[in-house]
Amino acid sequence: MAERSRIRLEVEGLVQGVGFRPTVHRLTTQLSLSGFIRNTPQGAELELEGAPAQVAQFVPLLQQQAPVLARIRRVSTVSIPPTGDTGFHILPSVGQAPPDTQVSPDVGICPDCLREMRDPNDGRYRHPFLNCTNCGPRFTIIQSLPYDRERTAMGAFPMCEACQGEYTDITDRRYHAQPTCCPNCGPTLTYLDRAGKEVAGDPIRLAQAQLRAGGIVAVKGLGGFHLACLPEYAPRLRQRKERDGKPLALMCADLDAARCLCRISQEEENALTSWRRPIVLLRKRDPAPDVLSHTPELGVMLPYTPLHYLLLEGFSALVMTSANPSDCPVITDNQAALEGLHGVADGFLLHNRDIVTRCDDSLLRVFRGKEYPLRRSRGYVPQPIPLSRSVQGLLACGAEQKAGFALGKGEDALLSQHIGDLKNMETLEHYQQQLTHFRSLFGVEITGLACDLHPDYLSTQAAQQLARELDVPLTQVQHHHAHMLSCMADNGLTGPCIGLVWDGTGLGTDSTIWGAECLAGDATQFQRLGSISPIRLPGGDACARDAGRIARSLLHDAGRWGGPQDLLTMQLNAGFNCPPASSMGRLFDGVYALLGGASPVSYEGESAIRLEHMAQAGVTQALPVELEEVDGMCRLNTPALTAALLEGLQQGQSPHQLAAQFMNAMVELAVQQCQFARERTGLTQVVLSGGVFQNMYLLPRILDALTAQGLRAYHHSRVSTNDEGIALGQLMAAAGR
Ligand code: ZN
Ligand code: FE
Repeated sequence: MAERSRIRLEVEGLVQGVGFRPTVHRLTTQLSLSGFIRNTPQGAELELEGAPAQVAQFVPLLQQQAPVLARIRRVSTVSIPPTGDTGFHILPSVGQAPPDTQVSPDVGICPDCLREMRDPNDGRYRHPFLNCTNCGPRFTIIQSLPYDRERTAMGAFPMCEACQGEYTDITDRRYHAQPTCCPNCGPTLTYLDRAGKEVAGDPIRLAQAQLRAGGIVAVKGLGGFHLACLPEYAPRLRQRKERDGKPLALMCADLDAARCLCRISQEEENALTSWRRPIVLLRKRDPAPDVLSHTPELGVMLPYTPLHYLLLEGFSALVMTSANPSDCPVITDNQAALEGLHGVADGFLLHNRDIVTRCDDSLLRVFRGKEYPLRRSRGYVPQPIPLSRSVQGLLACGAEQKAGFALGKGEDALLSQHIGDLKNMETLEHYQQQLTHFRSLFGVEITGLACDLHPDYLSTQAAQQLARELDVPLTQVQHHHAHMLSCMADNGLTGPCIGLVWDGTGLGTDSTIWGAECLAGDATQFQRLGSISPIRLPGGDACARDAGRIARSLLHDAGRWGGPQDLLTMQLNAGFNCPPASSMGRLFDGVYALLGGASPVSYEGESAIRLEHMAQAGVTQALPVELEEVDGMCRLNTPALTAALLEGLQQGQSPHQLAAQFMNAMVELAVQQCQFARERTGLTQVVLSGGVFQNMYLLPRILDALTAQGLRAYHHSRVSTNDEGIALGQLMAAAGR
């Protein structure tokens, strides 16, 4: 007998229900190995025997060809004596199998399925719902665990004999692929006209004809409905959707189509083509404002379902925007689409597979080679964020405007999908449903809760009610402290750290509004070491959508208002309903208005984005930064900054010059405050968090300036820097208690 060797492998990680055993089976066949595999509570155990050279190839090949959803944490290998066995066997699992509590995110169609869809000789030629173990719907169709077809939206579609055959064949790519289907047994498409009447014919071709004619088509997708149209008809879509200035995302047919419009780096290409298929913010080739986006950037994604690929045939790109009537969550239901999009859509491309869980497209940019999430949703959720400590049983309820929660399971944080602004009734309902869904799906018994300090946040009220119902402790976490802890957890830092947190608004421990905070601390405590002198907000919330009011307040408090003594002046003089806010977001709003950006903003944060793109490149001067020490804090003298800005305007400097000089001053402020914090605490690690760090003029400059001072500066890469990331920080605070 030829020389043989035998090894025993222990594989730890997520290897069950992800197509791992078929991969192993394929490799053992390819390498002529005998032996067995069996599932264990930790993962899988294998013994393999064959020619030594072949045996040696197995582990490298396995690492290379592991299924996309498998997460192999560790492989340990030992040599054992050969037994001379033949054939490869799948043995029953050993030990108490762990409760299967992993839910995969939805996976973009894989190259194998795409090939079949385009092959006229394949049984699934042009089938809009084909999928396999490596791709297809998951999170959005799963009702409960364990993950089996009958507990998904595919339960309504019993497998035909042919699909069943593949499903039970270990050598097949569809072995144990729960949502697998074909034209005989899968869901079906229908096309309805604007009146909701079904039209006879090929639904895809009918939808395409409507799109070519300039119409708007509602398309039922994976986690919700999209409104689709040709890019040149974007103004019509905007008008019907009453969506004023907010940029619209494009779905490009392929990378080449995206390249015609945008410059794409290698990392951006990787993000675009990854199985997660997020919307990636790319630099337009022509940076001028266009019908899709008023900034030099454009949100682009590639098709991620077979339906998208079919729909995009013959087009280079389509606008694809979430179909959500005025601030409501995205529509997921056929009937709701027909009612809610009546008068908006000229046609409806529907199917009869239910969307169990709503999940919007994810949005990110690539920053310094890494993903910088702006909305972590489809393709990412509910994949856990691994942490370095147990957060078992904790539930953090998040903030309000960009709501999202975090559920702790073992050392994993399970973050919810994008939910939206809770002030809206329908969104609040969606939030409550998802809280319940996550708790039951992952089988977590809640032993502690966390929420914001703000008593009016509906997430705070939800947490308080749950705490009473379940009789568990509730930790209220200051908004900016939570931001800071979120960025620490994102970077695996356990503290203590300096946190530079700049955002719109959050309630401070002194009951005023904060938002330009330099903090120092860890999960258990923090001190406030820097801020800006407060800006008064005449009319309070009215300022969020009217930057002109903030500009007036800045002028008034700098003693520079030379206009009429009108109602607003009287209000500022009397200090009536002028809550003070040390908010960086509001400072950006005010400065933007002072520099001539008068138009009322159409969405929160718009002026900060416009100011970012207003800034002239190559400006190195900065407005002077005047600091004062107040209550142990290093604070920016805001009126002095306003005065310096006005002087610049009076000297005839352009708004573009001054926008850059203002932001350069903010870089200087960041450096001064972090140095102040280092002197007070001896800390040298700085985390940057808060919505203002979506500003790509500031972020790299502040990181570099801090690094030049010998500080170690960190930014987000796994969760969003805006309020969506807050829940993770709250979770850490609750765990630190
Ligand atoms: Zn596939
Ligand atoms: Fe915030």
